[in-house]
Amino acid sequence: MKNEAVICDREWKIKEECGVFGIIGKEPCDVARKIYFGLFALQHRGQESAGIAVSYQRTKVAYYKNLGLVNDVFGDEELKLLPDSKVGVGHVRYSTTGTNNVVNAQPVVFYGKLGRMALAHNGNVINADKIKYDMMKCGHIFQSSTDSEVISARINYRIQDKNVVDGVIEACEEFKGAFSLVIMAEERLIAVRDRLGLKPLVLGQTPEGEYVVASESCALDAVGAIIVRDIEPGEVLTIDTDGNMESRYLKNIDKKACIFEYVYLARSDSVIDGVSVYDARYECGRMLAELYKIDADLVSGVPDSALVCAKGYSDVSGLPMVDAITKNRYVGRTFIQPSQSMRENTVSIKLNAFRNNIKGKRIVLIDDSIVRGTTSKKIVDLLKKNGAKEVHMIIGSPIVSYPCFFGVDMQTKEQLIGSKLSKDEICKAIGADSLNYIPIEYLKKACGGQGFCCACFDGIYPEEVEQEDLDKFMFE
Ligand code: AMP
Repeated sequence: MKNEAVICDREWKIKEECGVFGIIGKEPCDVARKIYFGLFALQHRGQESAGIAVSYQRTKVAYYKNLGLVNDVFGDEELKLLPDSKVGVGHVRYSTTGTNNVVNAQPVVFYGKLGRMALAHNGNVINADKIKYDMMKCGHIFQSSTDSEVISARINYRIQDKNVVDGVIEACEEFKGAFSLVIMAEERLIAVRDRLGLKPLVLGQTPEGEYVVASESCALDAVGAIIVRDIEPGEVLTIDTDGNMESRYLKNIDKKACIFEYVYLARSDSVIDGVSVYDARYECGRMLAELYKIDADLVSGVPDSALVCAKGYSDVSGLPMVDAITKNRYVGRTFIQPSQSMRENTVSIKLNAFRNNIKGKRIVLIDDSIVRGTTSKKIVDLLKKNGAKEVHMIIGSPIVSYPCFFGVDMQTKEQLIGSKLSKDEICKAIGADSLNYIPIEYLKKACGGQGFCCACFDGIYPEEVEQEDLDKFMFE
């Protein structure tokens, strides 16, 4: 029995770093196409699979999902499979371990007590395995290895007296960890953000009057929607096709939004919880210039997420901002490939140096973060091989020393260079001439002040992580 449980744990070990999108309006229309554009804008949050589900004839659901980028998964033909509808949800997925399997693609579409439902999830529910195992003991079966299927099953399990919102709330009170959800049920759209507000979720409205819920505001822009407001931590917002809204709240609300969204995960043109990601990154750059005055010839940013920070540094320090590195636009984010060896390959495919710009120069190089150290080492090597005289690295986040259990791909302490080495040792390991990080208080200030989960930097987890939950992150 014990062995079986362990085998299950291994299979269940999967983490998500995804994008969700939901839409609801009065008249049936081609919502699938709008969701497609929304997902396209969220592509940076997940490049492994994409899916869309729409409801039609009140009780039916049509959906299509597959492995690949939004553009690979959906062409005109696939979109035409999805009939005109008043409501739909979509998802892009980034799994960090396990098989990249179509069974794990979302939205999760299922037959439940209230007929067909669909759910899309961003985050990581740390006690999902426990819930899953309990349910399996009672005879439930599961198809995938995702916590999102557990969330769906538990919601269905908790639905009584045909009240879907009560069921959602009861189930969500049981989940520990990160979950931003969009749920389609009975021609209603339900948006949920966990009590800590770990993952972002924003409400918008299209010029046609439809309501839209998305992981990031850049997806609202993609469908011409304006921001109405953020979904609040712990909020369970139900919207019907007439645009009526009802908000209810989970217990023990305590905002601890993931600060890494501002550092790296989100797009610079998004606004999260009222704070522009661009402004936060720019402010970090300005602060870094005040903190670390380096005798150098130029400043440069690692594309794309560190460019804004580098601009802030340049504007305050007076050092010219010069392109040192270029990025191949057709390669995805470094971490997309699940194995470390593939990851190392993609760094050199992805980045190249502008030799003439850097030859003989002393460079201040800004990056948003150092996680494993692989990228920084490659970049410093690249710049030096191409003639840079000195490379002074400045990082727009503190040292990443602790794993994340809530949906960011930093799984074990072993993988994090900052958990093993001191700042000076890291500097040596990556071959830089100097290395500096932004202090945590400065980063918080740049992102709007307080109410953040900074566990990857300070080890203070907003939710108690039990040994059992910890153990499952150690399998690889
Ligand atoms: P490395 O130090 O080799 O792990 O790479 C760090 C770089 O990868 C950072 O500069 C970011 O641009 C990017 N990065 C940081 N955190 C993540 C993450 N959780 N998932 C994907 N990419 C990341």
